[in-house]
Amino acid sequence: MKNIRKDSCDVLVIGTGAAGCAAAISAAERTAKVILANKGAFGRSGTTCLGSVIYAAALGHEDGRDSPEYHFLDTVVEGRYIGNQELVKVLAEEAPRTVYDLERYGVAWYKRGNNRINPSEYNYYQLPSPPHRYSRGVFNDERTGREMQDALCREVLKHSRDIRVVDDLYIWKIVRNNNNDERLQGAFGLDMRTGEIVAITGKAVVLATGGGGSCYKVTDTDTGATGDGYSLAMDAGAELMDMEFTQFYPTAFVYPESLRGMIMAVSALWTSGLRLYNADEERFMAQKYPDSAENLPRDILSRSIFMEILGGKATPHGGVWLDGSAIPNWEEVRKSRPRSFMWPERFGISGHRFEVAPTSHFTMGGVRINEKCETCVPGLYAAGEAAGGVHGGNRLAGNALAECVVFGQIAGTEAAKLRKENTRDIDDSAVRREEDKLRLLFNPEQARGKKSSSFFISRLKEIMYRSAGVVRERNALETAQKEISELKDEAGHDLKITPGKIFNYDQIHAFELFNMMDICQMTVKAALIRQESRGAHYRRDFPDSDNKDWLKNIIFQRRNGKLQTRTEDVKTPYVSPGEPS
Ligand SMILES: Cc1cc2nc3c(=O)[nH]c(=O)nc-3n(C[C@H](O)[C@H](O)[C@H](O)COP(=O)(O)OP(=O)(O)OC[C@H]3O[C@@H](n4cnc5c(N)ncnc54)[C@H](O)[C@@H]3O)c2cc1C
Repeated sequence: MKNIRKDSCDVLVIGTGAAGCAAAISAAERTAKVILANKGAFGRSGTTCLGSVIYAAALGHEDGRDSPEYHFLDTVVEGRYIGNQELVKVLAEEAPRTVYDLERYGVAWYKRGNNRINPSEYNYYQLPSPPHRYSRGVFNDERTGREMQDALCREVLKHSRDIRVVDDLYIWKIVRNNNNDERLQGAFGLDMRTGEIVAITGKAVVLATGGGGSCYKVTDTDTGATGDGYSLAMDAGAELMDMEFTQFYPTAFVYPESLRGMIMAVSALWTSGLRLYNADEERFMAQKYPDSAENLPRDILSRSIFMEILGGKATPHGGVWLDGSAIPNWEEVRKSRPRSFMWPERFGISGHRFEVAPTSHFTMGGVRINEKCETCVPGLYAAGEAAGGVHGGNRLAGNALAECVVFGQIAGTEAAKLRKENTRDIDDSAVRREEDKLRLLFNPEQARGKKSSSFFISRLKEIMYRSAGVVRERNALETAQKEISELKDEAGHDLKITPGKIFNYDQIHAFELFNMMDICQMTVKAALIRQESRGAHYRRDFPDSDNKDWLKNIIFQRRNGKLQTRTEDVKTPYVSPGEPS
């Protein structure tokens, strides 16, 4: 039996990205005692720090025609009508207010003027980013996410009387009471610094654990984006939705290995003259789309690149060539957009030609919530990329960071309302029960297997990228299903975990591996069930959208130990396909 340490709080927030920090601040402002737990380092882990450019908010400063109603419509339409319209409405209406909140916390938005007496007269620069119909992206240079993360961390620290930040604490289980009835009791964590199990009693838990981008071989997300929150929620009995929708960004390095997954060129540069070639030196975009060539939306570019790779025309490291030699004023572009390009010279690579492929960028699906960020498990909330429902089938640029703050604040506020409830402490027997189940993970010395978690993780990522990534079809998905299930069996008996208590990352990666396998199984299953193409989900065998049969969400929920799947008709209270938008 491991040492068990006990701790308690009113609200346990898991994750210190934008959603987690916003939730913790809001809960603390309502006098709740908060533990803000993080498997990494405060301010330096999670995908928020990587958020590169815009924060979408219909302030109407750049273009007076804009309004939250248009932001709502653009988001629903880009989500191909399967987003939860009530959540989208909250996002569009609340995002402008959060811009001012973030400025109060210290975010230096780019502005023309600064009317401190009447903030609504601040004159923010707002960048265009189609298909947002008007320019609505506030920003700070091209490091908006970093700027936000720093400001939110500073604000969290101002509340240090009420918020306790606990780094290096890996949360592996949400605990409900002995009878597993409705009541939430808190969570179990593993303190990576000591190797102890920590039983945290809490009246409410907010999942702000980010997305699952790391389930794919090529990804630009944080390495910790292993979808732990989805697995924690599912295990606790919450519902997951839209897991088939993963957004890919078309062009990321696939070589050199050290840069694999990092975005190579942002959208704004396509108009400067970048070109794509396959290994046979064919400019395939120009062949397929003579009028627009490379100047097309992310999903079409991603799909076309992937088709070349699948069609056997991949470059030596499995991508296509991104070629900048036709840009006449390369140096000027470089100077005017210093951060738009992952300027290769910074990494010791010269030339104008790079091997690129689509990179997994964002998880649209996630834990199902309502407008109060409540899940169907009383006391369990979710916000940010951990939650599903806002983006539907595809995400608009800038909506993710806005979602984090809008819904993070709501989750924190709602969770704090439970602070006066009584909760029974998590007892030792609950820990023992779990420890029995997880014997292998907690007693690495008993793990007699031969293969490390990184072996299994890289195989899983390979399967997902190849068969459940940008382009999908029935046979490949069925093969992936079989391969993941075999991988799970193999990991169950042949996993090796290096013994050791202090910062035993092998143990953490093993936890992550099992979470990732669960999530990938759901993604593949949902992708098989959805027999149409919609948004980021493209089925080669069903290339069209089918609003008659597929205006539906696919929902997963574990009941009595069994994973159940069902579809539900999408509600369209405000706008339906075919109506003017
Ligand atoms: C390269 C890139 C650029 C982007 N640019 C933009 C942009 O310009 N605009 C935009 O709107 N969006 C952008 N996005 C998306 C956006 O950055 C993310 O969706 C958003 O930051 C997610 O924030 P979050 O708070 O939900 O999660 P994260 O910031 O990922 O935080 C998750 C937190 O949970 C913790 N955690 C996870 N599991 C556990 C566990 N088991 N126990 C304890 N802690 C755990 C992590 O350590 C981390 O602290 C971009 C994404 C990428 C990859």
